[in-house]
Amino acid sequence: MIIEDYISKRELTKIEKKFDLVVVGGGMAGVCCAITAARQGINVALIQDRPVLGGNASSEVRLWVLGATSHMGNNNRWSREGGVIDEILVENTFRNKEGNPVLFDMVLVDKVLAEKNIELFLNTIVLDVEKSSEKVISQVMAFNPQNQIKYIFKADLFADCSGDGIISYLSGASFRVGAEDKEENLELFAPDKNEYGELLGHSIFFYMKDTGKAVKYVAPNFALKDIESTISKVMKPEYFSSNQHGCKYWWLEYGGRIDTIHDTEAIKFELWKVVYGIWDYIKNSGKYLDSANYTLEWVGVIPGKRESRRFKGHYMLTQQDVVEQRNHYDSVAYGGWSIDLHPSDGVYSEKNGCNQWHSKGIYPIPYRCYVSYDIENLFLGGRLISASHVAFGSSRVMGTSAHGGQAIGAAAALCIKTKKKPAEFIDFEEIKKIQRALITTGQYIPQLKLNDFGGKVSTAKIDVSSELALSELKENGNYFRLDYPAAMLLPIKGNIPKMRLKVKCSEATNLTIQLRASYKPFNFTPDAILFVKSYSLVEREQILDIEFNEINVEKGYYFICFQKNSIVELAESDQLISGIKSVFNYQNPAVSNYGTQRPPKNIGVETFELWCPLRRPNGKNLALKFSPSLHAFESVNLKNEFFRPVIGTNAWVASLEDKSPTLTLTWNEIQTIEKICLFFDTDADHAMESVQMGHFDSVMPFCVQEYSIEDENSNIIYETINNHQTINIIDFDKGINTKTIKIKLKHPSQLTPASLFGLIIN
Ligand SMILES: Cc1cc2nc3c(=O)[nH]c(=O)nc-3n(C[C@H](O)[C@H](O)[C@H](O)COP(=O)(O)OP(=O)(O)OC[C@H]3O[C@@H](n4cnc5c(N)ncnc54)[C@H](O)[C@@H]3O)c2cc1C
Repeated sequence: MIIEDYISKRELTKIEKKFDLVVVGGGMAGVCCAITAARQGINVALIQDRPVLGGNASSEVRLWVLGATSHMGNNNRWSREGGVIDEILVENTFRNKEGNPVLFDMVLVDKVLAEKNIELFLNTIVLDVEKSSEKVISQVMAFNPQNQIKYIFKADLFADCSGDGIISYLSGASFRVGAEDKEENLELFAPDKNEYGELLGHSIFFYMKDTGKAVKYVAPNFALKDIESTISKVMKPEYFSSNQHGCKYWWLEYGGRIDTIHDTEAIKFELWKVVYGIWDYIKNSGKYLDSANYTLEWVGVIPGKRESRRFKGHYMLTQQDVVEQRNHYDSVAYGGWSIDLHPSDGVYSEKNGCNQWHSKGIYPIPYRCYVSYDIENLFLGGRLISASHVAFGSSRVMGTSAHGGQAIGAAAALCIKTKKKPAEFIDFEEIKKIQRALITTGQYIPQLKLNDFGGKVSTAKIDVSSELALSELKENGNYFRLDYPAAMLLPIKGNIPKMRLKVKCSEATNLTIQLRASYKPFNFTPDAILFVKSYSLVEREQILDIEFNEINVEKGYYFICFQKNSIVELAESDQLISGIKSVFNYQNPAVSNYGTQRPPKNIGVETFELWCPLRRPNGKNLALKFSPSLHAFESVNLKNEFFRPVIGTNAWVASLEDKSPTLTLTWNEIQTIEKICLFFDTDADHAMESVQMGHFDSVMPFCVQEYSIEDENSNIIYETINNHQTINIIDFDKGINTKTIKIKLKHPSQLTPASLFGLIIN
């Protein structure tokens, strides 16, 4: 028993800790920053003011993590962000493909707790900073109301991933709130500040549940009463269904006309008013009879924040960087979500809830956007990075934020190891060290080519038991009706092979087939029509021979486009091959994809068609036969640093007939192998929304699950039978001395050959 007598005043317990890097904010940017830095060997504190990690992606807010894949509704093929964010989303899809937000919280906690170099502080609110000089933060102060402890976190480096920018703000760093004038950066999409407003607001969501019996609902007195007259986008009937809850109500937005930081509580109350009022309308207006058995299962108690301060870095990302996909010598991450601005009046506006415009492909983000201009030991992460309001409209999403978070995590580790300041890496040579470290962890950096990759792989002779020469995608007996255009996206170099396809027609017709490519070879927007052919088809099943033999092409991806013709059906295949895809020119209004993007004049955005994949089990490949076979899967692809399809497949793919696909690396001298890092195909083309959406596969069907590694004496030095991850890192603490390494893979299925995107051996 403890009894304490009266004293005039007590002090809270104080704990002081010292780290290499303090990350403030445990959203996706902060989590990915902390894990990346910790894995590079530095000591990290991850401080999060709320009980779980994830920020807007946590079960407290329930937004799905998205980035360049944009619900698979744009032209950014194979663009899911790599590195830690990929590992997290792949793991979540494996454990929780239904997208339960509570389970996603635990995927994040699990990942962070697995890192011995991270100390995690949940429920810990950073509320002050101290500087050792004008431009250097020495410590941040925090308080945990759960354990009544005051903390002092000292560090050499700080990363502000707190959304509103608590430490950047307190340390005096320059920032902006609101929209730039069009003239400042010549950004033609900059909004009319009075009419449209200049800030995006907050949102609160709700989940509903069918209880199986009638449930009455009495709204709180404060709930909005006159829904139809106040919310012009009044609930369309289709908005009532059990999968139209959660973040499908992203347009329940408010606060863009007021102070999105200091008025947050007022915004929250307004959003509760709206949510409980809408539920009243659903339950009691008599317009949604299907809602009788439904109850509100959950309503957010913390608003999801979209926009507040953006801090000054050494470069400000602008609309032109996004739309023109401008390259930067210091690119360390990329974005690919549309520029997505919202009317500041939110749910009370008569305008569309959002105004989204896509780029033709992903765009690089320079390191300079992540380094504070004013404070020498401060990185910027997440939505607060140095971007204009318009560019922020794209860079703000969580896949992009996480990818940038990884960049600053890797940069922080290099700063500590080399005793340099973040800004010292803003240099043509120095930046390559960060880029190299990032690529090694799976971070794809667009338009960047670095030589000498793979460690010991670069000096090894590589032999493989087989290389896929793709002669056909086997028919599955089903057909795809050309109600909208379809295309096969194929890696080709030189002559276009002859192609043969079974087709069915209900009457005689002409079918137009185009050969298309992207003007920018690294893009997947088929904006260059190279050849058009028309084929006469008769009324029955028949074989269609497609020839473009007049054409000889540079190495790249080409689209064989079958134009819309509902009379025609094309034979489908169940085969899935790394680096080969079907895409469709269909509509996906969820991401403002109406088949063709047609922006108004003078907003600085391009007109082009959107050709996108369909989610499995739909979106089958077309059952094409190739003559000669497609050769794009050679083992030489393992010697480059691209671990996903860009320009070529960048994959070694074995032949399906090969009973034991084997990769053998041989050196002239004995090598001591300490680490092998394998990059498998977990379908970077697939968006892996973290919550709510649900996915067909828990393990990506391209992914090699079973493999073994042998030394020169055929000793098995590693084996697994249940891999589902993209990157497998195998450490040999004592080192393996050998002249040969054999990697034996098992085909993922009878239809999908084993593949490998990359290999690093140290
Ligand atoms: C309604 C809505 C819809 C959106 N739609 C999508 C979408 O579909 N997909 C998508 O990817 N993105 C979407 N976004 C954008 C995205 O959610 C944000 O831009 C993103 O969360 C920014 O990531 P972040 O890590 O910078 O911030 P956050 O996710 O906000 O994380 C910051 C974290 O820092 C913590 N923190 C703040 N202050 C402190 C402090 N003083 N001490 C300690 N910790 C602190 C916060 O609690 C928070 O957890 C949407 C946003 C909203 C609001």
